[in-house]
Amino acid sequence: MDALSELQDWYLAQCNGDWEHEFGISISTLDNPGWHLMIQLGYSLLEDQSFAAVRYGNPNIRIDSQSNELPETPVFGNWVECSVKDNVFHGSGGALKLGEIIGIFLKWAHEIEIAESTPEAEKRREQREKEKSDRLFWDVLGNEVWERNCAIEGRSNKCTRFSAWCRHHHFKRSRGYKYPFEDEAKPANRVLEYQSFPTPQML
Ligand SMILES: [Zn+2]
Repeated sequence: MDALSELQDWYLAQCNGDWEHEFGISISTLDNPGWHLMIQLGYSLLEDQSFAAVRYGNPNIRIDSQSNELPETPVFGNWVECSVKDNVFHGSGGALKLGEIIGIFLKWAHEIEIAESTPEAEKRREQREKEKSDRLFWDVLGNEVWERNCAIEGRSNKCTRFSAWCRHHHFKRSRGYKYPFEDEAKPANRVLEYQSFPTPQML
């Protein structure tokens, strides 16, 4: 199968009714001249995976605008730069390198697919998802700001804004286990964030 068909398959495999609304792929041109391929990796198997950057050649050899001629063919456009930053794959290269750039991406995607298909990897992935969801729920509960104490005895904590319990107890009651990251330092700006939440009366 050619690179473009494989890229289409990868794209289609990500589309699930949600992914395609937030993430995607773009292919554009550069004025070197050249190509730029950008692939958003969020919520794909490639999210947070490490990628060894690929770089060769010199992107700064350009067409001579005076004569409108290509510099010597063996050097001109013979460059590629591929890297991943903030869960976005960026691949750039000379005017004839688009296929090769797509190939570099697909090779990496294929390697990760194999590495992630073991039962151990599946377990690790589930664990990561669970941690993400725990943190999100903890954040949503917000800080303990009400005047009254938590309805469950044993702790002197106040209630969170929308609950009769403290954050700790609300989490434990809902999830059936203790919040695993309770001892982690909380960023100071979160306090302000939650204080600006509307009160129930305002809702
Ligand atoms: Zn409590």
